[in-house]
Amino acid sequence: MNIEDIRRELVTLHDELVRASLVAWTSGNVSARVPDTDLMLIKPSGIAYADLTPESMVACDLDGKPLPGQDLKPSSDTAAHAYVYRHMPGIGGVVHTHSPYATAWAARGEPVPCVLTAMADEFGGEIPVGPFALIGGDQIGRGVVATLTGHRSPAVLMRSHGVFTIGRSARDAVKAAVMCEDAARTVHLARALGDLQPLPEEQVAALHDRYQHHYGQR
Ligand SMILES: [Zn+2]
Repeated sequence: MNIEDIRRELVTLHDELVRASLVAWTSGNVSARVPDTDLMLIKPSGIAYADLTPESMVACDLDGKPLPGQDLKPSSDTAAHAYVYRHMPGIGGVVHTHSPYATAWAARGEPVPCVLTAMADEFGGEIPVGPFALIGGDQIGRGVVATLTGHRSPAVLMRSHGVFTIGRSARDAVKAAVMCEDAARTVHLARALGDLQPLPEEQVAALHDRYQHHYGQR
């Protein structure tokens, strides 16, 4: 994808966040690395989802600094996204939401336990909790990278805040955000009705391997 394709893709993916009810008002954001450059594109700060256009996505360097000559300011989470791109070279997309069920687990500082095959597929285990971090600087990015490095999960519940997901592409990261909220909701409902039954690790590993390497059209 060239930079114009990515701008259009980001508008579509922000619409997906709205469609999946993962965001309220202007909260939440998607970014994408621009392949073969040291640039990323991210949602502008404080612009309504319905008003997002390909041109409104803000181009920044991988320190999170916007390139000169752009009218709109980038998302207030830009430093966190940039930190992930600098420290996780295989990552092409990052998503942040305050989706309600997942964020309820984050509010308690509790990982979502792996009790469903769909969770083993997508997350390869529990959805982990990351540290509390203030918004604006590198702190959130550090917490995301520290939690997800060496973890199978593409999603982290940042304590008392919300969800960050990563993916090889921005679309993969949005999918992880949708699946994270779905898992958080289902496991919440299951626990309200009784005890949870964690999947054994060997089953989790087998499910994860099958889904990551053999599932879907190839
Ligand atoms: Zn946030």
